[in-house]
Amino acid sequence: MSGHLEPIVNLHHTITELDVALERLHGIPDWMRELHEEHSGRKQKIDDIESAIEAARQQRRQAEVQVEEAREKQKRYQKQINEVSTQREYGALLQEIDTVKQQVNEGEESALAAMEQIDRLGQELETERENFRELDERYAAEQRKWEAEKPAVAQEVAELEARVAALREGLPRNVLSHFDRISERLDGTPLAAIQRVQRPGRGPVEWHCGACNYRVRPQVVVEVRNSGDLVQCESCKRILYVEEDAT
Ligand SMILES: [Zn+2]
Repeated sequence: MSGHLEPIVNLHHTITELDVALERLHGIPDWMRELHEEHSGRKQKIDDIESAIEAARQQRRQAEVQVEEAREKQKRYQKQINEVSTQREYGALLQEIDTVKQQVNEGEESALAAMEQIDRLGQELETERENFRELDERYAAEQRKWEAEKPAVAQEVAELEARVAALREGLPRNVLSHFDRISERLDGTPLAAIQRVQRPGRGPVEWHCGACNYRVRPQVVVEVRNSGDLVQCESCKRILYVEEDAT
């Protein structure tokens, strides 16, 4: 694994650039994010009002069925009044009639409340939709602008993909599979930059792994810098490299 560090670092940086470009291509661009969030928030609000109206309509239908059924019962009981023979039966029937009358009242109240709610929500929905129209148009315009920018981003993705492929081709198979294995094991971050740490007044310069902060021995730093070999961090096993501006 000697002398391949430079192309491996290069490959790693290109893959990172490709990931960023892919995210840009498939995600929401930064300049659209705020509008996107406002748009989806307001759209959600409209959906919520529509669901609330549907729920109120259902409540109204149920209440109307309840009233209808209670009225039917009431009619039956009224007829039965002429047929009872004892005072006790008469009393029991009156009680039943009271109960169904109460059910009619409750049902009517519930239906009325539902109708009022449907009215109120309907007005709210109309206002929301009106306010949404302008935002929706603005959003559609930005979306068109984004669609127009997409081909350039797609082009960048294609170029980066080609560069990644070319860099991979230039590497020996064993080096590449070593890189891929580490990358897979470490969630796509197979490399770590060595960082220089100097504690004030406390002796010599120290070097640490930029990913896990484990100490890197000075001779390893020299080896990485001079030989270009693939040396892994003793702790997190990432391939170590020295950033060009680090001295
Ligand atoms: Zn490490």
